[in-house]
Amino acid sequence: MIQRTLILIKPDGVQRCLSGKILARFEDAGMKIVGMKMVWVDKDFAKEHYYEHVEKSFYSGLEAVITMGPVVAVVLEGVEAIAKVRKMVGSTEPKSAEPGTIRGDYAHVSYGYADQEGLGIKNLIHASDSEKSAKKEIELWFDQKEIHSYKTVHDVHLY
Ligand code: UDP
Ligand code: MG
Repeated sequence: MIQRTLILIKPDGVQRCLSGKILARFEDAGMKIVGMKMVWVDKDFAKEHYYEHVEKSFYSGLEAVITMGPVVAVVLEGVEAIAKVRKMVGSTEPKSAEPGTIRGDYAHVSYGYADQEGLGIKNLIHASDSEKSAKKEIELWFDQKEIHSYKTVHDVHLY
């Protein structure tokens, strides 16, 4: 039941200097960082990561946001971590995201506003949405040797 999941602190999160605060939420919940690096993706890589959205109307806005600066890519490990991380991230639209979630606490824009302005939704963070996508995304972003097994205090006190 211990799962690994990919998160990306997107360029808006990095440029708003929220990387530390965002990562702290996962560390505070007892999740383990097992891989982490900063990457500035190009359009081709963005298309690989967001392959399911490439044909959608919002893709050009999404691509502009995800390629506008470096992201912090992180592999998190924890008990049923994929669903828990998605819950902590919150709904895609910041306007609808619950307070207490990352998107709800650090953003507020709506689909209506973004669509009217022709912008991608700046919602700070990506997180894998299923076991299948977590596996695929971790393989896309990380080499096996960039992922580490080690003990944290949570291995003693959390499980
Ligand atoms: N997105 C957008 N406009 C939309 C829908 C999505 O700009 O109307 C962006 C947004 O940044 C979102 C990303 O595309 O996080 C991927 O969309 P998805 O539906 O997979 O949302 P997520 O899994 O990130 O919650
Ligand atoms: Mg998604």
